[in-house]
Amino acid sequence: MSDLFTVINPSTAQPIADVPLASVEQADAAIAAAHEAFQSWRTVAPGERARLLRRFAAVVEEHLDELAEIEVRNAGHTWGNARWEAGNVRDLLNYYSGAPERLTGRQIPVAGGLDVTFHEPLGVVGIIVPWNFPMPIAAWGFAPALAAGNTVVLKPAELTPLTAIRLGELALAAGIPEGVLTVIPGAGPVVGERFVTHPLVRKVCFTGSTAVGKRIMAGCAEQVKNVTLELGGKSANIVFADTDLAAAAAAAPYAVFDNAGQDCCARSRILVERSAYEEFMALLSPAVLGIRVLDVSDEASEMGPLISATQKQRVTGYLDGVDVAIQGTTPGGADNPGFWVPPTVVPVEDPAMPIWREEVFGPVVAVMPFDDEGDAIAKANDTEYGLSGSIFTTDLGRGLRVARGVQAGNLSVNSHSSVRYWTPFGGFKQSGLGRELGPDAPYAFTEEKNVFIAH
Ligand code: NAD
Repeated sequence: MSDLFTVINPSTAQPIADVPLASVEQADAAIAAAHEAFQSWRTVAPGERARLLRRFAAVVEEHLDELAEIEVRNAGHTWGNARWEAGNVRDLLNYYSGAPERLTGRQIPVAGGLDVTFHEPLGVVGIIVPWNFPMPIAAWGFAPALAAGNTVVLKPAELTPLTAIRLGELALAAGIPEGVLTVIPGAGPVVGERFVTHPLVRKVCFTGSTAVGKRIMAGCAEQVKNVTLELGGKSANIVFADTDLAAAAAAAPYAVFDNAGQDCCARSRILVERSAYEEFMALLSPAVLGIRVLDVSDEASEMGPLISATQKQRVTGYLDGVDVAIQGTTPGGADNPGFWVPPTVVPVEDPAMPIWREEVFGPVVAVMPFDDEGDAIAKANDTEYGLSGSIFTTDLGRGLRVARGVQAGNLSVNSHSSVRYWTPFGGFKQSGLGRELGPDAPYAFTEEKNVFIAH
């Protein structure tokens, strides 16, 4: 008998489904089936693999609203976000459906014969997904992994398994053969851990907390197993006095409060040039108070609840005893049983404060002034993380200098974009290891093989 996990709607705190959690034996059986399926999936002709991925994309498109509705209920996402997330899965499948027919090797000039390289699939890839973006993060792994000829076992987060389960069904409906993409809901220390210890899983893609990521990396070392880690962040939004302050202040809340701040790329620290600090804070106030924090059943909602009671407790813990400068509201206020926290802005002077240093993963942003370009870069880099960041300035040279100076994997100048499937994504320092997305992602799911043929 499997254990059952009761899935909760975070907007209402009401149960919505009971999902069986797989045992180690069930995980082993799924991995064995994925290994079996690999033997034939890797030999499917590139054009046919491409066609199947495009068909999968089309089936996701046909079920876009259904998938979005599940995520609104299961993760408390807004309709706008949830539709974008389901659309992102479709786009990733279409983008990487171009890969099987383009996964070319090289012909290298050598003496005495012909030398060619091949990109061989790894085998079974294990993908461990967090609860903050259940659909996109799953697809960032499975779309390029499948395109490169691997089979995938995917473990969704305990809290948010429903869209992953549905995507597994849609893959089969699209004609992806049984065992090629297997969704295994289960506990992290059981199924996730098994991906790390099972010798037939040849790569683990993990997104989640830095603490678990370190454990996974150490476990993968035992078998010299490939691993990609996408971990936490404490990214800075650096606002120079020369920028259009009204535009920067209007954009800043969405860069941190989107998905209720449960975003590894959230710009959860705002650094403002001292001469513009007062004016920026005055402009930030109406921008924060203007965010539509509404029940997510309302299509106009721009921010929903946190994922769980535990997460709400963690996030509100950071607000104990700090001075709050700006705070929005939540639907129903304190009487709402869901896991709501209002958008909150906290000015910080002491960089040792936990709210300045730690990933809060909630709708909380800390703001600090800086003196000059060097001070801005030093403060932005004064963190163990290095995932993303933004720079607002009208001076293009300064924008480039600061972008080069900030130790993070994804910087944007005069915008807050981070994750675009066309471009590589990943972290410096303790934000991660390896890159996902972009044109090279399929290669990260292959071993390069060199073959020499003597004349
Ligand atoms: P977590 O790292 O515990 O969970 C992420 C995934 O890892 C889940 O699927 C979980 O089941 C699995 N997992 C847990 N323990 C495991 C183990 N021993 N072996 C293999 N897999 C395991 O994250 P959480 O507890 O859900 O969230 C805690 C904090 O982590 C958050 O508050 C946030 O700061 C951070 N977080 C970051 C991201 C991100 O995108 N970088 C995502 C989620 C959480």
